[in-house]
Amino acid sequence: MTHKVFVTRQIPEAGLAKIRAATDCQVWPERMPPSTESLIQGAKGCDGILTLLSDRIDADFLEAVGPQLKVISNFAVGYNNIDVHETTRRGIVVGNTPDVLTDATADIAVTLMLAAARCIKKGIENVSQQQWLTWEPMEFIGQDLRGKTLGIVGMGRIGQATARRCHFGWGMQILYTARSGKPQAESEMAASHVSLDQLLAESDFISVHTDLNPGTTHMFSTSAFQAMKPNCVFVNTSRGGVVDEDALYEALTSGSIFAAGLDVSDPEPLAGNSKLRDLPNCVIVPHIGSGTTSSRNAMAEIAADNLLAGLSGNPLRHQVEA
Ligand code: NAP
Repeated sequence: MTHKVFVTRQIPEAGLAKIRAATDCQVWPERMPPSTESLIQGAKGCDGILTLLSDRIDADFLEAVGPQLKVISNFAVGYNNIDVHETTRRGIVVGNTPDVLTDATADIAVTLMLAAARCIKKGIENVSQQQWLTWEPMEFIGQDLRGKTLGIVGMGRIGQATARRCHFGWGMQILYTARSGKPQAESEMAASHVSLDQLLAESDFISVHTDLNPGTTHMFSTSAFQAMKPNCVFVNTSRGGVVDEDALYEALTSGSIFAAGLDVSDPEPLAGNSKLRDLPNCVIVPHIGSGTTSSRNAMAEIAADNLLAGLSGNPLRHQVEA
């Protein structure tokens, strides 16, 4: 029997070719994501769907598409777009794509640390607006990384990869928070497991790598930013929902922190009226953490394998648990 499948966006051929060869598959052809109605329409009567983080999969969606659905393969490591308690209750398996985007995302975290610390946004604007008049001894003064303290919030795969780059690259001292201690990271790079309060108070750089869950939603609020050092550079490549963006704006404009670098926002794209967009000390890129050829191809392959395994009742390469 050929399984019916809906793929909610064009993904690399490395995965799409496998899906096309094995299923009766429909691919959403547009650049913009399907609306809720189009998502339901596309998935109705399907045995499997391949989703992106912009596709909200909740109880209403699952009810609307019907009982045929066996597997949801998310083209991402994060799966906060899916109500996993609801899929589990309905016996639907969910897959994700960890590991293969870890290095690419850690590279973007470090890129944002450097760009924010060294006033790169202000520098680019200075040149593009033809304001580069001379070499100025008192302008574009940033922060060094060498020997500074980096606080990693969420010491999982990407958090550890970021810490490794900074410890071995710039001799940074690593503090971290996570739900559980990471003995290997502690011995490998002398990382210290500390409370969030200690991390906020002592870090010169803070890089966020938690998943978005009830315990991390708006973890970075006014009180968190006020607890940071005035020279602190704050970087978020996890999910926009961990940050209260009004509180971040206040911190960046009042001087309670030095600068920020963001790969993610809430909502995405960044709200049209977001005050963060035009701040010279806030570098924002459009959720490009996993955006390298090899990462995206590998994500596509894993997402395809997860989908096909779920359709045939086999274990997924990477299955998400509630
Ligand atoms: P991971 O290995 O599961 O790491 C997540 C870490 O967050 C874990 O160490 C976990 O602690 C920690 N954590 C969870 N709740 C916490 C809390 N309340 N306080 C402190 N730490 C907490 O996942 P990953 O592969 O590194 O990915 C992390 C996240 O990055 C993903 O969920 C996704 O949202 C985001 N991401 C973004 C991009 C991008 O393009 N910008 C790309 C990939 C991933 P324990 O280890 O103790 O459980």
